[in-house]
Amino acid sequence: MSSAPELVIVGSIGIDTIETPREKRVEILGGSVSYACAAASFFVKTGMVGVVGTDFPDEHRALWERMKIDLTGLQTGEGKTFRWSGVYEENMDNRRTLLTELNVFETFSPELPEVYRDAPYLFLANIHPALQLHVLEQVHSPKFVLIDTMDLWINIARDELVEVVGKCDMLTLNESEARLFTGRDCLNEAAAELLTMGPEFVLIKKGESGSILFSAHGDYSVPAFKLETFKDPTGAGDTFAGGLMGALAESGKTDENAIREAMLYGSVVAAFGVEEFSLERLAILDRMQIDDRCASFRAACLTG
Ligand code: AMP
Repeated sequence: MSSAPELVIVGSIGIDTIETPREKRVEILGGSVSYACAAASFFVKTGMVGVVGTDFPDEHRALWERMKIDLTGLQTGEGKTFRWSGVYEENMDNRRTLLTELNVFETFSPELPEVYRDAPYLFLANIHPALQLHVLEQVHSPKFVLIDTMDLWINIARDELVEVVGKCDMLTLNESEARLFTGRDCLNEAAAELLTMGPEFVLIKKGESGSILFSAHGDYSVPAFKLETFKDPTGAGDTFAGGLMGALAESGKTDENAIREAMLYGSVVAAFGVEEFSLERLAILDRMQIDDRCASFRAACLTG
């Protein structure tokens, strides 16, 4: 029997087709839990909860195994794997979704293996809030739960989202989603309102402008790690949050200072991730490269 993971992550597994101004890649590995587990795996033993179809290529599963991701919680459903396709505009700032095919997601019910239920850290990555809630109901007493979401669920499953957010320690979302969720333009006001929904921390992602952590103690900003070039920003938010949760779980702490430190790691791993499509860069990354880049990033943050 496999040993218990310190961190469990539930989310989507997708086969993505992505078009940037320079390149189009067809049927590559994606999904929120795929990016998040890959990022977290540099720090702690991480268990994946998700579903693939019978068409899911063995090579993707083999890649996760090479990254030492625990796949006990991975289900194979009858039918095709979730498909998603998106296109980036010239400046890569805007992305349009061209296709979303739920496939095996339509009947997916995440069931946690017994060995996952005592995990101290849980990340509910982007997936329908009813499924996030179902996972939360199965864990015994996690030390720290992070939840992510997207505009789709804010629009079509708001009540379920509010319910599950109220049971989590930290909510992460990007700035446009924070505005959509609260109807407030001012980010400070939006964050203040999100804090009243229950989580102790709200982490707002601002893409190339970094991220801001809000709590009762105020706010704390981390810039994005500056890259000369990047190829594909898909999954950057998932990679950021996965890296953050991995680093936090490794520290064994849940306080604000530990979250701030973990944000640096999340930023650095996300910056590596966007250098290539899919998990291609993370697949050849090692912990020493992360620590080196984190040391220079920390110094740059301190000197402004
Ligand atoms: P992000 O760039 O953070 O929005 O994440 C991109 C990933 O989200 C892609 O790899 C997709 O497979 C996945 N994705 C796209 N739409 C959805 C959806 N409705 N639910 C869950 N995951 C999705």
